[in-house]
Amino acid sequence: MKDKILVHICCAPDAIYFLKRLREDFPEAEIIGYFYDPNIHPYEEYKLRYIETERTCRELGIKLIEGEYDVENWLERVKGYEEEPERGKRCEICFDYRLERSAKVAKELGCNYLTTTLLMSPKKSIPQLKRAGERATNGTGITFLALDYRKGGGTQEMFKLSKERDIYQQDYCGCIYGLFKQKEIPIPWDLVSVKGRAPGSKEERIFFKEARILAESLGFPVKEYEFPFLSWKLLEGKIEVDKEVIPSFVVPYSQSIRGVAKGRVERVVGDTLFLNKQNVKIILSEDFKAFPLERITGLSNPTFVVPKQFKEKLLNGKVVATLRTEFLPEKSEVMLIGREDGKKYLGIPADTLQDLRGISLKRLESILKEKEREIKEGELTVVLLGAESYGRVGSNFVRDHLGRDVDKFIDWQSL
Ligand code: SF4
Repeated sequence: MKDKILVHICCAPDAIYFLKRLREDFPEAEIIGYFYDPNIHPYEEYKLRYIETERTCRELGIKLIEGEYDVENWLERVKGYEEEPERGKRCEICFDYRLERSAKVAKELGCNYLTTTLLMSPKKSIPQLKRAGERATNGTGITFLALDYRKGGGTQEMFKLSKERDIYQQDYCGCIYGLFKQKEIPIPWDLVSVKGRAPGSKEERIFFKEARILAESLGFPVKEYEFPFLSWKLLEGKIEVDKEVIPSFVVPYSQSIRGVAKGRVERVVGDTLFLNKQNVKIILSEDFKAFPLERITGLSNPTFVVPKQFKEKLLNGKVVATLRTEFLPEKSEVMLIGREDGKKYLGIPADTLQDLRGISLKRLESILKEKEREIKEGELTVVLLGAESYGRVGSNFVRDHLGRDVDKFIDWQSL
């Protein structure tokens, strides 16, 4: 009888080398991937890891099954072990949880072997995983394969393969408890979904990975370049005049206001009004949605943009400004679709503005199809630009890192 192996998969970086080696060692076997990781938090991180696993399995021609994201049950099971260190009791329960379900699925599929890509992870204990695998398969007739593919340069090879394919590399194990412990600082923004695709957010990262799958399915070469930048997050911001909220948006990289700034306009310079409290700046704009991103120059006073029609109201009324923001080092990227030496670069922002304007996958697909001939002949390269809404960080990176200017640009106005 032909061997049938179910491989529990935790993430694409751990899977890429593991699956290749498994296929070499079991050339006749049917190999099936099973992504079952309800431990991963938040959901966007789970989705990102799944998308990358799907891409990896597709490349290797391995069938992939997605398990249930039953995070509530997982949280219930590890209750009481929140403070445990990595490799401790909580991890043991976590392995049991994932491998028990995997063994069940293996049985249903008629597999005679079960294994897990967790064995590849340098931070995991192989004996601990072996024990969990054997407990899970005990009495099922399935053999757990505790394969050590890390040795003999396996770990280095895994990182190399992952880097070559621009596979998303997470920086924490997966669960909410590991996240706090491994990063050693509370980062609430990692734990919540943001609206749209803020620069450096998981949502932006997911969009890049979905765009990659789309572009590759259309037969285009794709290359991603990651870059670090100082990310800015708007937590809360509003302007009230005589107790009435007026439309406004906050200029990225504005500093927070301590408490609230209650004051009056004390100075007018051109179209800019200055409050007499906390250096608050209010820029008047005819079309405040068209505020030029080039004007964002990094860390600034608390700065709002409001429609010009509110000028008189602002000059004569009592103004209350509220602003809470947060700065964090983050990563974003640019993605080249087509040849790197394409004659022209067509830039498209990958992130979205505060009002959620941005390109959709559908629109990207129609652009790629429309430009297919030019892209394939090297006349044009489509460049998706991350963190573009923060003073054009993405296109500045293209200029600095690739020595190329974006020749044409599709901006938020036309998306
Ligand atoms: S640190 Fe990793 S292995 Fe341990 S409980 Fe969290 S997700 Fe599971």
